[in-house]
Amino acid sequence: MSAKDGDGGRPPSRVTRLVHSGRPSGDRVTVNPPVERGSTVAFADAGELYAAGPRTYGRHGLATHAALKDALSAWHGAEHVTLTPSGLAACALSILPFVRSGDHVLITDSVYAPVRVLAQRRLKAMDVEAQFYDPRIAGDVASLIKPNTRLVYLESPGSLTFEIQDTPALCAAAKAAGAVSVMDDTWAGGWAQDPFAHGVDVVVQALTKHQGGHSDALMGAVMTNDADHAQTIADTARDLGNAVSPDDASLILRGMRTLDVRLERSAQTGRAVADWVADHPAVAEVLHPARADHPDHALWARDFTGAPGLFGVRLRPVEEASLTTALNALTLFGMGFSWGGYESLVIPCGPQLRRTASPDAPDGPLVRISTGLEDAADLIADLDQAFARLSPVSASPPTGIA
Ligand SMILES: *Cc1c(COP(=O)(O)O)cnc(C)c1O
Repeated sequence: MSAKDGDGGRPPSRVTRLVHSGRPSGDRVTVNPPVERGSTVAFADAGELYAAGPRTYGRHGLATHAALKDALSAWHGAEHVTLTPSGLAACALSILPFVRSGDHVLITDSVYAPVRVLAQRRLKAMDVEAQFYDPRIAGDVASLIKPNTRLVYLESPGSLTFEIQDTPALCAAAKAAGAVSVMDDTWAGGWAQDPFAHGVDVVVQALTKHQGGHSDALMGAVMTNDADHAQTIADTARDLGNAVSPDDASLILRGMRTLDVRLERSAQTGRAVADWVADHPAVAEVLHPARADHPDHALWARDFTGAPGLFGVRLRPVEEASLTTALNALTLFGMGFSWGGYESLVIPCGPQLRRTASPDAPDGPLVRISTGLEDAADLIADLDQAFARLSPVSASPPTGIA
């Protein structure tokens, strides 16, 4: 880290360290680290070739990767960082290293859908039992823990459905049972909560989203402050040939410099859009944890310091074709997967929703909105003209003459 100490030795804040970490130091150096591309690293001394140490081969990371890891370490308060080629690879690398045949893992029912598939296909093939739990179970998770429970997986808020979990209670129960707690913190991006402070052992980030911030690179990170866990993760990453491109590492690092201001704005805009949407007659419910009407608002207020602009909108039942018409009519919101970029996005969530351990959602389609950096009033005007195309399904069909 190249941040100079502030006046009088005052330690620089996290945002300042994010801006200064992973930067070259010295006279007439570029502000940003060079993109160091390479597979082979040439040695001058044959005696050094097989000596353990950094910078032996491109797959293990070179200067650009080290700079990104510095910035991630400063921002997330993580001593150990492993980069992965995608966010999903980070999810996988937060589970697979810790489990073996005969183990049991608990995974939140609100988990990012591809992790459910990983559990049902990959873990099953390894003879690891994955059990899904109600994201709102809190400390009662202890009743699901078995002697062979090895890992408890959290995601808060949940993907698409935005339940806030009682992270300290879940992690305390995991710890008491000797299980590893893992949290996918992609929504908060380390900006809106500190999972380590809540007791999480291993934190996953899809850097593709907030950290990258520009929808032009895929990457993930697995982070921990536990040296043994770090070694287990690093060994597995090595065994699997895990590697990321230095060009992508450079893009993610560039995105991270503006993370704090982008999220601040996206949060503001998201809240304004959510509040407008909540009053629309076509809307049954807005799933935005910073709003007082969110069922887990108290937990959010206790454990989070912000709410990035990604939230759900449960519509009242509508004619299905009219939802397609309305979404197609949006001009400022793009439609596509992922989020966290500078541009606003919307998707209908229906086909991705899957519940096995907690109540099914009420009727009416769920739409997910990601607010980017456009003007909030423009986004609201766009939604207004699109939502006008929704045709409600009337609650009670016409009954004719009484
Ligand atoms: C997008 C996402 C991922 C996966 O990230 P990719 O880089 O797309 O593989 C994992 N977890 C959450 C919560 C996500 O939103």
